[in-house]
Amino acid sequence: MQMIVGSELKGPSDGGWMDVLNPATLEVINRVPKANVEDVEQACAISAESQHLWSDLTFDQRKKVLAQIADDIKANMDDIAATITAEVGKPLGEAKHEALACASTFKFFSTLDVEEEVLNDTESVRLSVIHRPIGPCALILPWNFPFALMGWKSAPALLAGNPLVVKPAPTTPLGNMKLGNILADRLPKGIISVVTGADDVGKALVTSKHIRRVSFTGSVETGPKVLEGIAASGLKKVSLELGGNDAAIVAKDFDLSKVASLMWSSFRNAGQVCIAVKRVYVEEPLYEDLVKAYVASMDGIKVGNGAEAGVNMGPLNNLPQLKVVQNMVQDTKDNGGTIKFGGNTLMGQEGFPGYFHEPTVCTDVDESFSVVSNEQFGPIVPIVPVPSIDDALDRVNSSRFGLGGSVWTNDMELARRVSEHMQCGTSWINTHMIVEKNAPFGGVKASGIGRELGRWGFEEFTEPKTIYMKK
Ligand code: ADP
Repeated sequence: MQMIVGSELKGPSDGGWMDVLNPATLEVINRVPKANVEDVEQACAISAESQHLWSDLTFDQRKKVLAQIADDIKANMDDIAATITAEVGKPLGEAKHEALACASTFKFFSTLDVEEEVLNDTESVRLSVIHRPIGPCALILPWNFPFALMGWKSAPALLAGNPLVVKPAPTTPLGNMKLGNILADRLPKGIISVVTGADDVGKALVTSKHIRRVSFTGSVETGPKVLEGIAASGLKKVSLELGGNDAAIVAKDFDLSKVASLMWSSFRNAGQVCIAVKRVYVEEPLYEDLVKAYVASMDGIKVGNGAEAGVNMGPLNNLPQLKVVQNMVQDTKDNGGTIKFGGNTLMGQEGFPGYFHEPTVCTDVDESFSVVSNEQFGPIVPIVPVPSIDDALDRVNSSRFGLGGSVWTNDMELARRVSEHMQCGTSWINTHMIVEKNAPFGGVKASGIGRELGRWGFEEFTEPKTIYMKK
């Protein structure tokens, strides 16, 4: 597949091609160009030159185009979902859900109220705020939800009137290219570029003088490097959605018949979700029973190629991520923790040619273990007993992460207090991982800066302009 530079398809200049693998089979399914710095600069320069073709339209005109894009995504749903499963590894049902989530994000922003806000209107003064475009936006994407997240970023950025230069993750460019082609068909020429390649493409994009706004989703380690790139190349508006180490705090009154919902909050997409439950804290009186019920519920997990019917957990997306999980299993064993369920790499066993790992549960661990205090981003979760809910809350709030967190109890007063005091961007009660288009999403502390979705996400792609009128 070719990349898109200034709405036009383009092969590699001198960087050659890179293969895209199916992580379940390790077969090469396609290839994309390795963009070089000149390709990136060309895309950014065209964005800047073409911006007026889009920003000069009214909000209503742009909203109409967003609604058409939502329809185009739905019309191509089966092909897009098959592509997501093939390059990410997730089960087909989840891939369809991801494609639909992207369509509904475009739909949401096609109906967002963006009226001028009048702050004061007196006999002598009218004070109001309007939202102006920022300029070319660099949208840098990860590999776990590449299609949905391109929607989270592009729909509000486009509504605001900005041109886009998208950078897919190296292992998952194909769905992004498909969405890029849909956008290229609907938007004025030059408003969309999708530049493929390795991490250096992201670096070149962040430091381009044409880029006015960077929206990045990726790892806790790479986020600060993006800020360094920005600091070295002039001020740009930025949002970083980074990793998390979300905790589920389970009270002793938790209804164990709901344990499968808790379990899937860790194992969906093989745990490769920034807002997966990555550690479970449970009040001591319920600990033994919870572990038993939790492990029993894991019989419902069927690992395999996500394209096959009945499979509900696919492989890891790439080898480095499989290694992270393997190292955490080893570290847990070496330090005296217990592997209560799973623990083995499946890759290489019959029927598992790709980056497969068993879903795994660890016990007899605490914050001194890597599996509790670091982000695993894979199918491994620790369950830790705690003397009280407040003790669990202290453990959560002493973490460097702060993306999401949940509390599982029938006591709504307790749940409300804990959810308010958890230092994170989203608190859930009796569920986890649900993201609504009209609510802000993002992290605190090492988990990020800024918010996506809702009117908050839209405003981050605008320059709020104050207009003071002396009458
Ligand atoms: P992972 O470690 O899981 O691959 P990263 O955070 O490194 O996650 O990558 C997320 C996205 O950021 C990818 O598209 C990647 O190519 C890009 N990227 C990596 N390094 C940089 C950088 N220094 N500047 C900008 N983008 C980068």
